[in-house]
Amino acid sequence: MEIACLDLEGVLVPEIWIDFANRTGIEELKATTRDIPDYDVLMTQRLRLLKENGLKLQDIQAVIADMSPLEGAVDFIDWLRERFQVVILSDTFYEFSAPLMKQLGYPTLFCHKLEADAEGNVVDYHIRQKDPKKRSVMAFHDLQYRIIAAGDSYNDTTMLAEAEVGILFHAPQNVKDEFPQFKSVDTFADLKQAFIDASVRDLTID
Ligand SMILES: [Mg+2]
Repeated sequence: MEIACLDLEGVLVPEIWIDFANRTGIEELKATTRDIPDYDVLMTQRLRLLKENGLKLQDIQAVIADMSPLEGAVDFIDWLRERFQVVILSDTFYEFSAPLMKQLGYPTLFCHKLEADAEGNVVDYHIRQKDPKKRSVMAFHDLQYRIIAAGDSYNDTTMLAEAEVGILFHAPQNVKDEFPQFKSVDTFADLKQAFIDASVRDLTID
């Protein structure tokens, strides 16, 4: 049996924090781990900015509900789910991604969790575990599944390496250059073909 493990942001949906910053005009929310490498410092800043701008969880979700999956993503995931068990492995938070997951037909999602108080103020965040994408693939291996994984960035590379086949999708050039061991594709048509090629089953019949 095979599981297709997919990254979410940059693969199926836009980068949520960047899109959110554009929609709200809060420039500082565009900071990523490239600007602030310490994730805890980055998240603490993000939560402070949400609070300073009076954005409660319901406001955040209303903004995110206006976002759409990347063009072709819904068709792709429908295609993939007919052929594989599909699990999304993401470093996003359930509360943020919920409006987008609805548009994707609620595939299985393993990610992190935000904590909000009774008024809806986001007060903390909870990372499920360290290196969660790789650890999920390891756990699926323990369950005797073969894994084909696709992602776009650094936080996917340990998952791609742990999988039987790792595929870079929409990856920036520096990631492609640094990880030449992974096949790299840039369109959903090529990603479908990469999954067909990576499978041990003959998926060309249907
Ligand atoms: Mg990504």
